[in-house]
Amino acid sequence: MSLIVHKYGGTSMGSTERISSVAKRVAKWARAGHQMVVVPSAMSGETNRLLALAKELAPATPSDSYYRELDMLAATGEQASSALLAIALQAQGVDSVSYTGWQIPIRTDSAYTKARIESIDDARVRADLEAGKVVIVTGFQGQDAKGNITTLGRGGSDTSAVAVAAAMKADECLIYTDVDGVYTTDPRVVSDARRLSTVSFEEMLEMASLGSKVLQIRSVEFAGKYKVKLRVLSSFTPWDIDIVEEARSGTLITFEEDENMEKAIVSGIAFNRDETKVSVLGVPDKPGIAYQILGAVADANIEVDMIIQNISKDGKTDFSFTVNHSDHARTIDLLKTQVVPKLGAQEVVGDTKICKVSIVGIGMRSHVGVASTMFRTLSEEGINIQMISTSEIKTSVVIDEKYMELAVRALHKAFGLECDSK
Ligand code: ADP
Ligand code: ASP
Ligand code: MG
Repeated sequence: MSLIVHKYGGTSMGSTERISSVAKRVAKWARAGHQMVVVPSAMSGETNRLLALAKELAPATPSDSYYRELDMLAATGEQASSALLAIALQAQGVDSVSYTGWQIPIRTDSAYTKARIESIDDARVRADLEAGKVVIVTGFQGQDAKGNITTLGRGGSDTSAVAVAAAMKADECLIYTDVDGVYTTDPRVVSDARRLSTVSFEEMLEMASLGSKVLQIRSVEFAGKYKVKLRVLSSFTPWDIDIVEEARSGTLITFEEDENMEKAIVSGIAFNRDETKVSVLGVPDKPGIAYQILGAVADANIEVDMIIQNISKDGKTDFSFTVNHSDHARTIDLLKTQVVPKLGAQEVVGDTKICKVSIVGIGMRSHVGVASTMFRTLSEEGINIQMISTSEIKTSVVIDEKYMELAVRALHKAFGLECDSK
């Protein structure tokens, strides 16, 4: 008998019909003799709806206590869908029970809206599994040491599922979603994107961190740390398809290179519209400017991604970096009030209309000229590159957001990733 964790995303849980279909699929797995833990997301659109309500009522400068309430609120979306799934399973004649994150408990730190899981007590779940129940663990939520409800960041149910699978040493964690696996790029942007039957853990980690929202990055980190067998597959196949066929479908995240692994130099293209660019212009070029600018930003708990410092001219330079959209206004304000006067810089400008496009592939380690193919392709399309960053297995560029889809399609083609090119 194996212990299997299933996770169902928002679209998969999007209506009572969909929940009923999920229940039938889970019942099939339970009847095949598996111990089943299921982690559902909120019904699609529900988290956005709740957060929009809060925004309508929010104070002008929200404090920590606002974010506490935001988590109280957002956590209700998953709580509702978990109870509905338990009811749907009971209707299928399957003994089922749902638990909130704090009933388990799933213990997190206190970083509201982006909390990290610290520990999971699996005693209650184990006892129910032994008693023959299907256990539903509510996704996206936990509880901090003081008993406050926390949520794990957008897309966080993936992380709940993988963390539960890791804590319980599950045989496999299956992430059911609205596409049938991990593709060379978002299939909603490039229609001939190709599904990967396997993707290496390292590539998946890069793709998730660079914006492919098919898996939340922290879920991939958990899978890597605890070697959780992780697969992404569709919840839109008929629920009664053969279980062996289903278990082999989708995309498997692999930890070792094996012969079956696809040998592309570039495996995927990711993009991210969530970042904005901030530039401090006319900074006197002397030692310590990076520290003075970025130190102040870090002290305000603002995460910085890409950084560029221009060549200096007449003893002055420009310094640019990217931050998340949600931190944009705060960063500009901080620079204007605290950094510019101290540094004697000229001005601060922001650009919210940028995006980051990245190519990812472990083959990039052993091949030269990959980045230059990327730059050539973009220049042939007349797309200006504003920033570049590289690591062993990825190259990212920041470009004007209006060229994002054009860039992704052109790069997808340039690296031969489309369906019929293999
Ligand atoms: P869920 O609600 O099931 O968690 P998400 O919307 O969070 O689903 O993630 C699935 C979506 O991720 C897909 O609908 C697809 O548009 C998007 N996506 C982005 N990049 C990729 C990729 N490389 N492969 C597959 N899907 C991707
Ligand atoms: N419901 C949450 C969100 O929309 C978590 C998730 O779907 O994974 O971000
Ligand atoms: Mg998701």
